[in-house]
Amino acid sequence: MKKASDHASAPARRHQSRRSADVEAPDYKDMVDHAVQGILVHANFRPLYANAAFARLFGYDSPEEILALPLIRPLLPAELWAQAEADYDDLIRGGEMPPALRLRGVRKDGREIWLSITMRVLDWHGAAAVQVNAFDITDYMIAENSMLDSEQRLRAMLEILPVPIYIVRRDDGKFLFVNRKTCLLFQQSTGPLLRSRSIDFFIDPQDRANLRMLLDTVPDIREVEVNMRTAQGRIFTAEVAAILLDYGGEPAILVALNDISQRKQLEQELFHQANVDVLTGISNRRHFLEQAEQEMRRARRFGRALSVMMIDLDHFKPINDTLGHAAGDAVLQGVVKAALESLRQSDIMGRLGGEEFAVLLPETEQAAAVEVADRLCQHIAERPIVTVKAAVPCTVSVGVAQMAESDNSVDDILLRADEAMFGAKRSGRNRVESIE
Ligand code: GH3
Ligand code: MG
Ligand code: MG
Repeated sequence: MKKASDHASAPARRHQSRRSADVEAPDYKDMVDHAVQGILVHANFRPLYANAAFARLFGYDSPEEILALPLIRPLLPAELWAQAEADYDDLIRGGEMPPALRLRGVRKDGREIWLSITMRVLDWHGAAAVQVNAFDITDYMIAENSMLDSEQRLRAMLEILPVPIYIVRRDDGKFLFVNRKTCLLFQQSTGPLLRSRSIDFFIDPQDRANLRMLLDTVPDIREVEVNMRTAQGRIFTAEVAAILLDYGGEPAILVALNDISQRKQLEQELFHQANVDVLTGISNRRHFLEQAEQEMRRARRFGRALSVMMIDLDHFKPINDTLGHAAGDAVLQGVVKAALESLRQSDIMGRLGGEEFAVLLPETEQAAAVEVADRLCQHIAERPIVTVKAAVPCTVSVGVAQMAESDNSVDDILLRADEAMFGAKRSGRNRVESIE
């Protein structure tokens, strides 16, 4: 009896709503039947209604074929059934559903499709049921998955490369990906690195800004040197290679680093070995002559004076012969030290060989050079040079010459300074002579 009255009440409500509408209401059933979206109503997975679009979506010939299913479970992959039942119970009990769910459906032919689903509870002839609206997002999901796939492959590849490589967000340099070698180089583990920004590792933050701006004008950056600092404070020089790329849908920069600190240090050592006299630490003959050529060109170009000193130790042979070669070496070192104390920072001293030295005095006229040479000569003569064996009094003879218009090469000016030095020897040593 109760059931009959229930049935009667539904058409009555419909009738009422029609009456209250301003314009004549359309036939909703017809609209739903022909909707583009797939629509299904079920009560606890028992199908109550399906439209033609829903049947098509799942590869069934007609809605009736779906309604003939005792339960709609075959439309879902088996592993989703438990979750679907829990969601259904939750929904019926008034729980909230997310606005749209993405899930897989199974077509009649067994093929899986991706669906975007919305659900709502409705009153179906007096009993609670769930309406499901579904549309096909398979193409979209395939595209999205292949993008995810390619990013995963990229990460896997970068991870195994034996080079520090990372990806940062283009605009603020936030780390988006770091490989293991980056962690080792930066002396920082992945978690904290991914919470920081690459700028924290640049000694000069402007370098990071410059690299970013460079990438607006060139397609890639290679072999650019920057100074960086690890999380533990170790400073190193890195050779940077970088390209722009799209990562996770945002503009990003992929950076590869090469720590070239050791190479730089080795280069410096080699330069030092090739140019510096081991005993005294000043320029060797070859490097001194190179520097002399350079200074001569500079003086010519700017119309400046350039003077040269030739220095030879007096009676050095007897020192060597009586105290031994090692003491002789110590005297040579002592003389160089005393000479450097008498010179300016800009003067360049070199060891031409044995106990012969030369000094370049840029921007110095001959008269001023002679004054410097006198001071140097006195300074050396004033104090004996202390070696393990003895305190050795030592003097030098110095020849001074100035670069002339007619000088073609460094040799010309050195030759005049040499002549002047021999003049000083002849005149009794421990003195300075110059050639006008
Ligand atoms: P003078 O005042 O005329 O210059 O007399 P001198 O004894 O200094 O004569 P000379 O310049 O000819 O002597 C050079 C000596 O310097 C010869 C050599 O024994 C010594 N000598 C050259 N090179 C070195 C070196 O690298 N170490 C040491 N300990 N001695 C050197
Ligand atoms: Mg000599
Ligand atoms: Mg000598």
